[in-house]
Amino acid sequence: MKKIFDVLILGAGASGLMCAATLRQNSSLRIGVIEGNATAGKKLEISGGGKCNITNITVTPEHFAAEPTFVSDVLERFGKEDLLNFLHVNAITLELRKGRYYFCRHSAKEITALLLRDAQGVDFYYGHQIESAAYESGYYRVTTDQGLFSTRHLVIATGGASYRQIGASDIGLRLAEGFQMRYTPFMPALVGLSLQKEQFWMKTLSGISCAVRIRVGNKTLEEEMLFTHRGISGPAVLSASLYWKKGEICINFLPHDALHVFLDSKKLLSTALPLSKRFMKAFLEHIGLEDKPCNRLSVSERSILKCLQSYCFAPAGNFGFSKAEVSRGGISLDELDAATLMSRRHPKLYCIGEVVDVTGELGGYNFQWAFSSAVVCARHIDAMSSVSYKKSKH
Ligand SMILES: Cc1cc2nc3c(=O)[nH]c(=O)nc-3n(C[C@H](O)[C@H](O)[C@H](O)COP(=O)(O)OP(=O)(O)OC[C@H]3O[C@@H](n4cnc5c(N)ncnc54)[C@H](O)[C@@H]3O)c2cc1C
Repeated sequence: MKKIFDVLILGAGASGLMCAATLRQNSSLRIGVIEGNATAGKKLEISGGGKCNITNITVTPEHFAAEPTFVSDVLERFGKEDLLNFLHVNAITLELRKGRYYFCRHSAKEITALLLRDAQGVDFYYGHQIESAAYESGYYRVTTDQGLFSTRHLVIATGGASYRQIGASDIGLRLAEGFQMRYTPFMPALVGLSLQKEQFWMKTLSGISCAVRIRVGNKTLEEEMLFTHRGISGPAVLSASLYWKKGEICINFLPHDALHVFLDSKKLLSTALPLSKRFMKAFLEHIGLEDKPCNRLSVSERSILKCLQSYCFAPAGNFGFSKAEVSRGGISLDELDAATLMSRRHPKLYCIGEVVDVTGELGGYNFQWAFSSAVVCARHIDAMSSVSYKKSKH
């Protein structure tokens, strides 16, 4: 038998849960949520080592790979302060790490529990794989492997394609295709980068991390990077991967100091600079410089050493969807209204969260986007429904 709703939300991840919870708090609509996993919020619960980096001390459109006006229109309606306030009012304690990243002090599970509590009365259908959707006579019809659903408002909150091991899929893009909506195919992002043969020296440094500044296109990112047996990773590289398609990236391994300050020393190069000795030895060998006392470097050797602050190379690729924290790409912003997240061409069809072509840098931006877009969408559905309710009473 077909199940009929006022609002049907596809996906019980961060955005779908927030949408259901916000709607439930404000309205008495009949709401359903369809989820492929056996439980809600799987990605949310494993993120940030189980403590979920939920937002950042600075949230501006510049931290997102997306059209800035669209992002700011959404964030203005429900931004960082609104999210922090919502969590505070609901007694979720956060901690600030490195002076900028907000993490849950106890567990990300607290967020799922809070949203599920606020969504009490919503019908959850777990273990249902969404297959297709279509519009017919005033209703959206959704087909799952367990049966049919019908709804007046349909919210696509099925996320990106990263981490298929916990239920992710590209169903959101296939649904968009069915509605003739434009989209950019998903690509792995916030992911480690693999290396070409010329940079294999970095693999020998597996386990070492250092503070760097990375330039990719016209973006500059400053954070830690990590050498791994597969290539390079760590926060700076993950954020850089969001902007890297192909071509060169440039790494400054000494972002906070002038190189010449260290070069009058009698110490060996490998110990004079504020970088690990293992790194310096591998780097010097790679650029063909002898590890000698700094004050004995020739002018041309000093010049070669300058590449320590601008080491440019083209990565081979990335570690793929199974390691990527997010998927770049998604449903085109041209298809959506920023004030409501509703489709411009299909009334009462909404897209929220990672399925939309908005991807944040590392640092809590993707959850902020998931929650902001969800609340904006939910408020609009609520407002539209109360208008039609009032109309029907007269
Ligand atoms: C390991 C990891 C760590 C991360 N850490 C952070 C972090 O610390 N901070 C941050 O901001 N972001 C982080 N992210 C990114 C963040 O998790 C996502 O951007 C966010 O969850 C997106 O929310 P969403 O609701 O759009 O999608 P999701 O949370 O992915 O929810 C989508 C839901 O749709 C369901 N679904 C998909 N396809 C189907 C189908 N065919 N049928 C039925 N159900 C389906 C999925 O099972 C899922 O529950 C991390 C991601 C990963 C993988």
